Amino acid sequence: MNKIAPSSKALVPFVSVDHMMQLVHHIGLETLLIELYQTVEEDFKRWESFDKTPRLASHSEEGVIELMPTSDGDIYGFKYVNGHPKNIKAGLQTVAGFGLLADVATGYPLLLTEMTLLTALRTAATSALATRYLAPKGATTLAMIGNGAQSEFQALALKAICGVKNVRLYDIDQRATQKAYRNLKTSGLNIIACDSAQKAVDGAQIITTCTADKQYATILTDNMIGEGVHINAIGGDCPGKTELHKDILSRANTFVEYPPQTRIEGEIQQMDADYPVTELWKVITGKAKGRENSRQITLFDSVGFAIEDFSALRYVHNKIKNTQFFENLDILADPDDARDLFGMLQRANPSQTH
Ligand code: NAD
Repeated sequence: MNKIAPSSKALVPFVSVDHMMQLVHHIGLETLLIELYQTVEEDFKRWESFDKTPRLASHSEEGVIELMPTSDGDIYGFKYVNGHPKNIKAGLQTVAGFGLLADVATGYPLLLTEMTLLTALRTAATSALATRYLAPKGATTLAMIGNGAQSEFQALALKAICGVKNVRLYDIDQRATQKAYRNLKTSGLNIIACDSAQKAVDGAQIITTCTADKQYATILTDNMIGEGVHINAIGGDCPGKTELHKDILSRANTFVEYPPQTRIEGEIQQMDADYPVTELWKVITGKAKGRENSRQITLFDSVGFAIEDFSALRYVHNKIKNTQFFENLDILADPDDARDLFGMLQRANPSQTH
């Protein structure tokens, strides 16, 4: 793996929301999702080389603010992200974030970027990774439950990477379903808007739940889940915030990102501490079995892990090289004489006469 060289100047490349949108359109959304999927897969394959820790979460009644750090020894990255389900009512995002990549050798930042869009992209790429390894062969129909900010990205990643052709939408709020329908209708996917979760899962081989509610919700009950289905449970990602009835977990083979974090935050917080899970990276490297037969229910209990953000950050850092999709930020004091920070300040004093 190539080490990313630190910038020779102390200016730090910054990717704004505007630049991120331009970058996505320049590359093409589906191409970007495929490339990001490949980058996440590469990093899952070298999972053991990363520093890993459950994210640092600061909870409040309304939501959570989280820091998600990791390092591969050469590069360090972190994301700042929130999760505030009630924000939508105030016209604000449920999930918003930004992230930073730094050179381990010097500690100097290499990249600062928006990560609200990038989180939607990396979460979609990661769902596609799990789906590619775990879904039944020939799966073409996705039930997408929860049609908020993440949903179109989820659907398009499964189209581009897993061959999904039909998407059955359902949201408790019809306006969200109508919005997703409008956004996806020219995507090449066959979109069906449903008026219940039960109708959405009918005939679907893949079910993705991506709802936001700070409670033990029951988006899916056991009777809704037939044999052979693959589930991506994306929205249950915080203590006290789940989407599946625990009877589904009793029947499913469950795959997770990083067990110490998922046991606190994922669907499996409802289960005993010895509930068996398989780490997704082990399936990807062939160290553990994924789907073993066509009748098995596979569940990706996704909470979002720092390594996925690291992959997204290093992808963006590579992609912006030699482009106009960033600006340089002067956020790091770097005097010519490294020890003369004070002198640098003095020389900047406008009242100083020379
Ligand atoms: P959002 O608020 O934009 O959308 C959530 C949607 O869920 C809303 O449209 C809401 O009406 C719908 N909803 C709520 N309760 C429902 C129910 N009972 N049945 C059907 N629909 C219901 O949020 P978002 O940005 O799309 O994020 C969705 C969830 O995914 C959040 O909980 C967020 O924390 C989580 N998330 C997880 C990851 C991860 O890596 N696992 C990454 C990003 C976001």
